[in-house]
Amino acid sequence: MRRLALAALLLAASALAVTGAQAADTHLKQRSEIDAKYKWRLEDIYPTNEAWDAAFKREAELIPKLAAYKGKLATSGATLLACLKDQDEVGELSNKLFVYASMRRDEDNRVPIYQGQVDRITSQNSRLGEALAYFNPEMLAIPNAKLEAFYKSTPGLRLYRHHLDDLLRTRAHVLSEKEEKLLAAAGDFSGSAGAIFTAFNNADLRYGTIKDETGKSIELTKGGFGRALQSPDRRFRRDAFRAFNSAYGKFNNTLGAVMNANVKSDEFYARSRKYDSAVAASLDGPNIPVSVYRNLVSTVNAHLESLHRYAALRKKWMKLDTLRVYDLYAPLVPEARIDVPYETARQNVLNGLAPLGDEYLSAFRKGLDSGWIDVYETEGKTSGAYNWGSYTTHPYVLLNWSNTLEDEFTLAHEMGHAMHSYFANGNQPYVYGNYATFVAEVASTTNEATLVNYLLKQNLTKAQRLYLLNYLLEQIRTTMFRQTLFAEFELKTHELAEKGEPLTAEAMNAAYQELMQRYYGPDLVLDPEEQFEWSRVPHFYNSFYVYQYATSYCAATALSKKILTEGTPAVTRYLSFLKSGNSDYPIEVLKKAGVDMNSPAPVEAAIARFDEVLGEMEKLHDTP
Ligand SMILES: [Zn+2]
Repeated sequence: MRRLALAALLLAASALAVTGAQAADTHLKQRSEIDAKYKWRLEDIYPTNEAWDAAFKREAELIPKLAAYKGKLATSGATLLACLKDQDEVGELSNKLFVYASMRRDEDNRVPIYQGQVDRITSQNSRLGEALAYFNPEMLAIPNAKLEAFYKSTPGLRLYRHHLDDLLRTRAHVLSEKEEKLLAAAGDFSGSAGAIFTAFNNADLRYGTIKDETGKSIELTKGGFGRALQSPDRRFRRDAFRAFNSAYGKFNNTLGAVMNANVKSDEFYARSRKYDSAVAASLDGPNIPVSVYRNLVSTVNAHLESLHRYAALRKKWMKLDTLRVYDLYAPLVPEARIDVPYETARQNVLNGLAPLGDEYLSAFRKGLDSGWIDVYETEGKTSGAYNWGSYTTHPYVLLNWSNTLEDEFTLAHEMGHAMHSYFANGNQPYVYGNYATFVAEVASTTNEATLVNYLLKQNLTKAQRLYLLNYLLEQIRTTMFRQTLFAEFELKTHELAEKGEPLTAEAMNAAYQELMQRYYGPDLVLDPEEQFEWSRVPHFYNSFYVYQYATSYCAATALSKKILTEGTPAVTRYLSFLKSGNSDYPIEVLKKAGVDMNSPAPVEAAIARFDEVLGEMEKLHDTP
């Protein structure tokens, strides 16, 4: 699974390491100049482009075979089983073809052949989707008793029971054929609010010019805003904050109407499909109880004094009369850049993850040495970092190493995803080899939390220790508190609409301001421009999604703590979670690891960690 674009959402997740002075220097290396041991081995997937072409052709031949089951699923258990098996085969083939072509392209985007492969497989896969469009409606029409008889007569079918149960549990929300047709037709414009916002936000909106730290006039951009908020120059931060939010504020009523349309669309689908609420409709997809969402919000709310304390301390450490929103991302500690070459990071990560035990570590080490990772930046390579792969390939990790501490955490993070895939694929059949979005960030974040614990035990200077603690603190603040605030805002807007109250820009401005004040407490003084912040968050057009960043973070913090304190029993449970893949619902899979997201405990574990880190920082600040 590709790494979620959390950084973009957070708008500067960490308030440190102003790496503005990025190597303006050296020319980038060509791929051919990099030692093979630092490159991933995509030839493990297809040794040649001819092999890819042959597999592509094979998929094309299998598509009509799948289409031929149309109208026949209910005839016998054996027919249904044959169809499912063929789906597995084609599904794996189509993933593998797509993953290979995309990763080859990512190696060097200047090579046209791989863009061509990506285009070909994308259109072939959409033909595959069309050929299979009959499957879900036909399955839903098979009566339960008949299906039970199929399971009895065809033992091979039992493997697919959870997979089919997952599909069939939504039966109560499937409408008549005529109604479904109408809903499908409405789909053409139900996403209009999001499309309008995207066009406005990415193409039309201008933020004007401000003076930078040197007094030079610059045009403010989204990326520039993120960097400005991390500047030590308060005047610059303030001007950027005001200009950026005011740009949205000028269109407050328009953006209010667009958001209102978005919420109304959610309500329309929820009501049409007979759900109690939009949040219930949205969470039903992955079968997450609404109580998990509400538990997160209420538990965080019960501990907001931790965030209040943070605000008070930040104000004190920054020596400010009043703490403003534009002070929240400013550097708290002098930059203490820790230079980390890849080989050092590799050793640190191996040492740091030792508590995860031999089984985990030996597989991890094997991954590091077996062409999983593409380490260095080269000419034309895709930027950023991700983990990917398919069921029958080993995992792959793309990095762009620049010798920073962030890179070291990224290595631990992406390898966390990779190990999750490795264990899930190795222990589950294809149909359950993946894992749900709800748990996708758990394995990656557990690694980060375990690694930071190791690093803090090393011999560090006071500046380095503060830097590391601050890194962790900001991660908890922006991932848990901030995403929960967003989650609560979404609940509030949808509830207003459900009660039939007008969802105006004014109402949303007020709701957002109230949340910010309540979360950060009396030490944060809100500028009038802050009320517009909700109107610039793109994720609100993907309703009830961001809470998963917070829940994943909490689960990972709780798991890491259990692994570090309980040892082997906790490690065994954790591995059984990784090995479970999608064989059960995400909430149940997490329970195997010992984390119940329906209870306050994991959320409290993350808050306790926040308190702990804040306390350590306070101690360090107070010692000369
Ligand atoms: Zn991730």
